[in-house]
Amino acid sequence: MPDTNTRENERGLRTPIVAVLGHVDHGKTSLLDKIRGSTVIEGEAGAITQHIGATAIPLDVVSKVAGSLIDPSDFDLPGLLFIDTPGHHSFTTLRSRGGALADIAILVVDVNDGFQPQTLEAINILKQSQTPFVVAANKIDTIPGWKPNEDAPVQQTKEAQSDRVQSALDEQLYEIIGELSDEGFSADMYWRVQDFRGNIGVVPVSAETGEGVPDLLTVLMGLAQRYMKEDMAIDVTGPGAGTVLEVKEEKGFGTTLDVVLYDGTIREDETIVVGGLDDPIVTDVRAILKPRPLAEIRTEDRFEKVDEIAAASGVKIAAPDLDDAMAGAPVRVVRDRDIEEVITEVRAELSEIEVETQEQGVVVKADTLGSLEAIANAMDEAEIPIMRAEVGDVAPRDISVASTASEDTHKTILAFNVDVLADAEKQAEDSDVKLFESGVIYRLIEEYEEYVEELERAQQETVLDNITRPARFQILKDHTFRQNDPAVVGVEILAGTVKKNSNVVKFDGNDPTRVGQLKGIQEQGDDVDEARSGNRVSVAIDGPTVGRQIEEGDELWMELPEKHAKILEQELADDIPVDELEALQMYLDKRRKRDPFWGK
Ligand code: GDP
Repeated sequence: MPDTNTRENERGLRTPIVAVLGHVDHGKTSLLDKIRGSTVIEGEAGAITQHIGATAIPLDVVSKVAGSLIDPSDFDLPGLLFIDTPGHHSFTTLRSRGGALADIAILVVDVNDGFQPQTLEAINILKQSQTPFVVAANKIDTIPGWKPNEDAPVQQTKEAQSDRVQSALDEQLYEIIGELSDEGFSADMYWRVQDFRGNIGVVPVSAETGEGVPDLLTVLMGLAQRYMKEDMAIDVTGPGAGTVLEVKEEKGFGTTLDVVLYDGTIREDETIVVGGLDDPIVTDVRAILKPRPLAEIRTEDRFEKVDEIAAASGVKIAAPDLDDAMAGAPVRVVRDRDIEEVITEVRAELSEIEVETQEQGVVVKADTLGSLEAIANAMDEAEIPIMRAEVGDVAPRDISVASTASEDTHKTILAFNVDVLADAEKQAEDSDVKLFESGVIYRLIEEYEEYVEELERAQQETVLDNITRPARFQILKDHTFRQNDPAVVGVEILAGTVKKNSNVVKFDGNDPTRVGQLKGIQEQGDDVDEARSGNRVSVAIDGPTVGRQIEEGDELWMELPEKHAKILEQELADDIPVDELEALQMYLDKRRKRDPFWGK
């Protein structure tokens, strides 16, 4: 059976690895299915080959799909290897030597929906890893009035549409181009792009009808051939290097690794070094497994053993002692090198991914090194400090660590795509550690930020509850109900909130005199604890006598302790109503006429 890898061996050029990213529901899976589906040519030589976790599409097939768009003699790269799992999770998991494993990415954007949170997240990840990408503006068949031409090149099908439909599509495409430009990318329709290094090509496609898929494959192939050929030239006989895509229990094999090999070869019985939870794992390959061709699959026998496999490919490796292996970790074949050197290499690569932690912060758990790093980057951007970041399920130990945080907002664990062990859940409840779980980075961060806001609001409310608030009120004419013990008068509240049990002052010029304490408030005959600006109420003031310390028509104030005035002005100015803020300012002005530093 012809194998793309044999060709790679001969030429020394490996297949470029392609990843698909984009917002949920924008059509990543459908597009991958379409690409794979449209290229399955049963029984024909050079048909696609299924790898573990990836699908190889040889140049012949690309060329067949692309038709007149491509001249296969322009190419010597063997084809394209698509990672089967779309999304930035797998993208960030799959790293190689500090960068992204994928050589090129397709960013899928729904033409009708435009940029969405995960589109932006994907763009950031692509920027950070400096991965070249093309934009697949998907679902063009949903433009109202669209008449599909199955599997046609996009310009051909576009020209066959009515003027109205064409301009509706253009409008959406320019929106996407504009959004790319907002993100700092110069972009254009792919057929107008000359230099794909400096410009992002936008390819209108439909994962449903296959329109534009020939163009997409052509652009990917062209981009790789033109700009990546040097990177694709590998020592095909050298010791293999790859990345763990998944650690998986497999019946009959124990714990196995799904690996994407991006360099060299790997053979049965060879010693490999794999990044592990605590330290690199050194083990011997027991079997190298490929998926059995579709036609030959029997349920109990899904894999086929091979003696050797070359990059680029997706394989399953069975070996002892793999339980602590981590998704996203490097795999290296030792072969004739010094084993210590290889261990050091693996360790160095792992430490590169280590997240910068601080004395104070939250605990982060993630399923893979790459996702851990992606979260750390996103958290850094959101200015959320991290105290500890690790790969693995949430265990009781993590709760203990989180519970030692000195701030309530840090007594939290952000768990990405991992399980929470049962006893950890119980412990979290008992120790007031808040757990956030999600498979989407921006949601985790959003939820955490909302939680912090909520906590802060609650804290401010308690502070506000315990703080005297500014208020100004005036004794109404002919509203003295009782002269003294206590004095009971009708007042109009001019600004702020009058509260029971606060002290009342009266200013003589700028000199405040405490006249007594506000003992009770009645609003339309009912006893209340406080009353807001604009209301007329009667108040009982313990201390003064009407006609002596206070008079009808007098303006009175709630007395503000200096410390409260300071907190109000410096910390809570945004949280109190405007009239209260005005009253505060007037109060401060008066006090500061006498003492410029009052309340500072
Ligand atoms: P993912 O979450 O990005 O992998 O999105 P899916 O591939 O699951 O697609 C989400 C939905 O959009 C599914 O119902 C698809 O059938 C639909 N869809 C995807 N691509 C297209 C397209 O090009 N045209 C139309 N009409 N529907 C599409």
